[in-house]
Amino acid sequence: MSAQIDKARIDWNAVRADFPLLTREVNGKPLVYFDSANTGQKPASVIETVDDFYRRHNANVSRAVHTLGSEATDAYEAARTKLAGFVNVHRDELVLCSGTTFAINVVAYSWALPRLKPGDAILLTRMEHHANIVPWQLVAERTGATIKVAEITRDGTLDLDALYKAMTPDVKLLGVTHVSNVLGTINPVREICREARKRGIATVVDGSQALPHRCVDITAIGCDFYAFTGHKMCGPTGTGALWARKEHLAAMPPFLGGGEMIKEVRFDGTVFNDAPHKFEAGTPNIAGHIGLGAAVDYLDALGMANVEAREAELLAHLNEELTRIEGLRIVGTARDKAAVVSFLVEGAHAHDLATLLDLQGVAVRSGHHCAHPLMHFYGVAATCRASLAFYNTHDEIETFAAAIHKVRKLLA
Ligand code: PMP
Repeated sequence: MSAQIDKARIDWNAVRADFPLLTREVNGKPLVYFDSANTGQKPASVIETVDDFYRRHNANVSRAVHTLGSEATDAYEAARTKLAGFVNVHRDELVLCSGTTFAINVVAYSWALPRLKPGDAILLTRMEHHANIVPWQLVAERTGATIKVAEITRDGTLDLDALYKAMTPDVKLLGVTHVSNVLGTINPVREICREARKRGIATVVDGSQALPHRCVDITAIGCDFYAFTGHKMCGPTGTGALWARKEHLAAMPPFLGGGEMIKEVRFDGTVFNDAPHKFEAGTPNIAGHIGLGAAVDYLDALGMANVEAREAELLAHLNEELTRIEGLRIVGTARDKAAVVSFLVEGAHAHDLATLLDLQGVAVRSGHHCAHPLMHFYGVAATCRASLAFYNTHDEIETFAAAIHKVRKLLA
């Protein structure tokens, strides 16, 4: 990172220069990368950390006593400590894994599968990503539990009254996203988890889209499980974590069996390692998580409060530009939003729109965004989605708006 970031007066152009990929051209135009909800770009410090690990320290963790082995183990465990500090939890409650999808599956198979039975219900919200739906359907099929859905209002806000009404005694678990990857809606997860806890309902919060944009204090949220992914928060792909309360980790059987997660193996029985290692079978993504540690250093130096403020400014500008475009409809206009905007343009299919924008160097995602039930709610097959990060600029927003105007003329 541009070493001396002054948190009080950040030079966002200098910050942007930390991201080598953003200097690229695409289709002969300067790249405008508006797909950070899909995956985030990486600062040079993260890329260099991963490179340095493979060049100088590469060895497996927790196995070899030689110097490289201890360097790798120390760096890997230091990354866990940094990550735990970043989200305000104890490091022994943080299971490192390949990301949110894996993390939620750990909860599904190790916590829910042995507990749920016919007559029990799993409560989900309409705005969940498939990663917080499909694992529960698989568990429901095997246990006889049912899935209940808490609805949203037309503007993309979670209907809290309906959600609390749906928290009936049969509900054993609630899955809720912290921030919607389609609508950008920020859910009041602290309040929701408090209400669930009062009723004895365990909570799984999907933090995939929250960590890249906001200060997240998992302890303050008061959930039972919090899952997140590293690649959307400046870290490498295949990284992330599950946070779970200590008592859950102690009671849960391992998800996968193998090396690293044991204390002793005999053919007549195995003694498992303590958490979090009990849930980390096999060789982990060592370089990736060390890279994620560097991403945490980077975000910490920027200050997540500054990131939030910067992105709020960018979002306001983006909304202003988009609402001026005739025939453009924003899907998801909740009051509390992250810088994620789904939209439709009259007369243009979302994929055509994204393809024509790409020709102008603008990268947006089009499709169902792994949220079919939400698409059904709005009666659309797909939307275009512009998702921003702090490294985007006001100029890019203007280029993007001009590109949409151009596409509209082309399709008229
Ligand atoms: N939940 C949400 C809200 C997401 O946006 C994503 C990524 N698109 C996921 C879960 C899944 O994350 P991953 O693919 O990194 O496991």
